[in-house]
Amino acid sequence: MLSYASVFASLHRAGWQRLGLLGLCVSLGLPLNTVHAQPATTRLPNLGDGAELPLGAERRLGESIAREIYRDPDYIDDPVLGDYLQSIWQVLLDSARQRGELTPELEQQFAWQVALIRDRSINAFALPGGYLGVHLGLISAVASPDELASVLAHELTHVTQRHIARMMAQQGRQGPMVVAAMILGMLAASRTPSASGMSAANAVMVGGSAAAMQSQLNFSRDMEREADRIGYGVMTGAGFEPQGFVTMFEKLQQAARLNDNGSFPYLRSHPMTNERIADAQVRQQLLPARPALALRAVHAMMAARAQVLTGPGVDALRAISAQGSASNLASAPVAKQAGALYGATMADMALREWASARQHMARLQALPNLDAPAAYAVRLLSTELALAMGDATQALGVIESKARVLAADDRAGHLLLAQSRLASKQVVQAKLASQDLMLWVNQRPRDALAWQLLASAYELQGDSLRAIRAQAEARAMELDYPAAVDRFKAAQELSRGLAREGRLDRAGHIEASIIDARLRQLENLRREQALER
Ligand SMILES: [Zn+2]
Repeated sequence: MLSYASVFASLHRAGWQRLGLLGLCVSLGLPLNTVHAQPATTRLPNLGDGAELPLGAERRLGESIAREIYRDPDYIDDPVLGDYLQSIWQVLLDSARQRGELTPELEQQFAWQVALIRDRSINAFALPGGYLGVHLGLISAVASPDELASVLAHELTHVTQRHIARMMAQQGRQGPMVVAAMILGMLAASRTPSASGMSAANAVMVGGSAAAMQSQLNFSRDMEREADRIGYGVMTGAGFEPQGFVTMFEKLQQAARLNDNGSFPYLRSHPMTNERIADAQVRQQLLPARPALALRAVHAMMAARAQVLTGPGVDALRAISAQGSASNLASAPVAKQAGALYGATMADMALREWASARQHMARLQALPNLDAPAAYAVRLLSTELALAMGDATQALGVIESKARVLAADDRAGHLLLAQSRLASKQVVQAKLASQDLMLWVNQRPRDALAWQLLASAYELQGDSLRAIRAQAEARAMELDYPAAVDRFKAAQELSRGLAREGRLDRAGHIEASIIDARLRQLENLRREQALER
């Protein structure tokens, strides 16, 4: 849990007010650790020690921050939005790789994980070690994937250019845990008070402290310009429209003029300096005049999804639902209709207004000329609606008719298919789900949600040993090593009991030896985690 009280208590203990320097661009980030990585044998170095922070040390610093963010109730793993984000993020990574910004060494040592935060304010952030984060508010506010790509490419560049390490090397004398606490404090301060459960008074207090910290943690102006320049190259090299950079920049500039810091915490960590604005104008003048980007249906739907998932409250949900029923909606462009109807269906689901949800969904499904990604987003949502209404048979019917062609990287599709199978409560379906999920986690062992579903699939089959092990892996992937060790110990005990009773077959013995090995690895990781505190 990102506990504000504990973060600020530790900042106070560390006497951060007296620490100068240390810049971090932060906006924030999140992580998944590779549990299969070799356990590090050394503790985090003092940040001022080396000429430059070594890659491994920066990664571990990032993990120590990431594991706190993971426990935050506002961390959200939404596979549908996650896939959309990845569709942008992965091509940016490809582009950075081709341009030589992302070296093989950096790629291998850092996490390159982007996490979603349930907050309606506009923010994105890069943490040490290749952990990045995006507020849902940013996704709901941008008009195109190109605008989102311009922000992500900027943050990506802060990481690839080692801006974080450079600042720490130049200025840092603090221990890594102090730095981690400062970054967590900044992240806490960037959050919308109501969304993070803070009282208004606390928010003001945190805001004041944050301003003081921010002045110490900002990247330099040169680093910001470099992130703009190289990030622009990365995003356009990836095939995104340069106008996306321009229009996003204009949005930020306008918010800066209005001094809209509350809903744009991004501006606090990325101030709109005159130099950045001048650079952006030059880039814009070099662009050929082109018509504004047309709204794409899939983007409109994902923006609407992000908005509903911020949990805006009953009145706002009713307003979103009403937009889907507006009489003039039918005359709007199809993409806009798709966004409104998708958002309305989501809002109805949150309100548990099933009749209205069904109506909005039917109109969404009847929209003509949706492209393939948009049509697929509609299909996934109709599966979710059936599941939410408790109709597993229908959910399975909708998603399974597509199952044979689920793309290898279609996480939302695979996980929704598994959820639909589990909802049927049939052992035969649970078996299919566990087979599919085993293949999935073999390829992507860091997927905590997939491990959790796998645990449920084994439970339904009465296979307690594998269920407990899968629960243990889920905790481990969330970097909660003490909880993972507890679960692995429970699995070990169970396997020994079964062995004594002669009830462990050959496959069971193999499972038991995997559990023994994983328990030893996790105990090492838990020890290191405790040492770093
Ligand atoms: Zn920046």
